[in-house]
Amino acid sequence: MEVLVVGAGVVGLAVARALALRGHEVVVAEAAEAIGTGVSARNSEVIHGGMYYPAGSLRAKHCVAGARMLYRLCASHGIGHRACGKLIVATTDAEAGTIAAIRDRGVENGVEGLELLDAAQARRLEPNISCTAALLSPQTGIVDSHGLMLALQGELEDRGGAIALHTPVTGLARKAGRWVAIFGGATAGEYPCDAVVNAASLDAQTLAAHTDGYPAERVPRRVLARGNYFGFTGKAAFGRLIYPAPVEGGLGTHLTLDLAGRMRFGPDVEWIDAIDYRVDPSRGDAFYAAIRRYWPGLPDGSLVADYAGIRPKLTGPGEPAADFRVDGPAEHGLPGLVHLFGIESPGLTASLSLAEDVADRLAA
Ligand SMILES: Cc1cc2nc3c(=O)[nH]c(=O)nc-3n(C[C@H](O)[C@H](O)[C@H](O)COP(=O)(O)OP(=O)(O)OC[C@H]3O[C@@H](n4cnc5c(N)ncnc54)[C@H](O)[C@@H]3O)c2cc1C
Repeated sequence: MEVLVVGAGVVGLAVARALALRGHEVVVAEAAEAIGTGVSARNSEVIHGGMYYPAGSLRAKHCVAGARMLYRLCASHGIGHRACGKLIVATTDAEAGTIAAIRDRGVENGVEGLELLDAAQARRLEPNISCTAALLSPQTGIVDSHGLMLALQGELEDRGGAIALHTPVTGLARKAGRWVAIFGGATAGEYPCDAVVNAASLDAQTLAAHTDGYPAERVPRRVLARGNYFGFTGKAAFGRLIYPAPVEGGLGTHLTLDLAGRMRFGPDVEWIDAIDYRVDPSRGDAFYAAIRRYWPGLPDGSLVADYAGIRPKLTGPGEPAADFRVDGPAEHGLPGLVHLFGIESPGLTASLSLAEDVADRLAA
């Protein structure tokens, strides 16, 4: 089967690799000048455990399975990663209830090693922490997301697959029982193929709306939530990732580490109408307040506005969080077509498992 994958982010690359490993001829069309410049370049690089998402959801299933697959791939392909572990901390009685519920959900989802700690136990692990209780997730870690994407590209190309850069797909036509992708930009033209996977993330709805025969009412609403990050200029004060209890729209302003051990904070949740990656430095005040709830020792003047990512959400403020939406032939009735919508966090962690799901749906 000849397959076109639209989008060379971590999800598109994982799907392309999975299909190439199954023996298909795969081409990835990427609008930008390089792979991994979209949502995949602007996240926390955390390998999530999978305890936040409702049991039975695609987010839970692919996060738990994807994390295991990702650790194995990192080990076998020399991709930078570290299972540094994470603490979700409670600073009030209500939050203690929340983290206990997260533990129960994690156990239901099959997450291993979760342990509820009291304040003294948490402080033995992280002496700078202030909390009333904490949930330890030893399986949570960090990964070099660009190293991962390069490894996926390498395996794709080893199997004869190719990536076409500067190649925006503007529409999908149906001709003589096949798909024909229409390209704009410098490489304007057409590409006939048997199947198409739309992994265009923030632009997935636009492509779906220009897909022959795909009902307009199936195209979901696109809701944008910017996540801003602030870097920490001092020496790292923690060895694990530290998360507060989750907030509406996100996981709370947490502390993540990069592979060099540097600390950064974020992402927060800022609902926006148009794609704009600028970080407003005045949001720093709210960061100091949120972080000092679990790290009172955060020095004044130590945070600097860093970068932002944008979550491709399907629901807005006050609405329940949506699941990943994988719209394949069994759902919409068109052969050889999968649209992916709302692949926000934990899409990086879930990518390898989600890729197998997409390949299965095309094979069914
Ligand atoms: C702030 C933030 C923090 C996050 N933190 C984490 C985390 O710590 N752990 C985790 O597991 N997940 C995290 N996520 C989620 C994760 O980053 C995403 O789910 C994942 O990167 C999505 O990958 P993607 O390939 O779907 O999208 P993208 O990386 O955006 O790739 C889509 C690609 O499609 C291309 N494209 C778009 N339209 C077209 C077109 N018409 N033709 C051709 N190409 C096109 C774009 O240029 C882009 O390269 C986070 C997300 C955000 C926003």
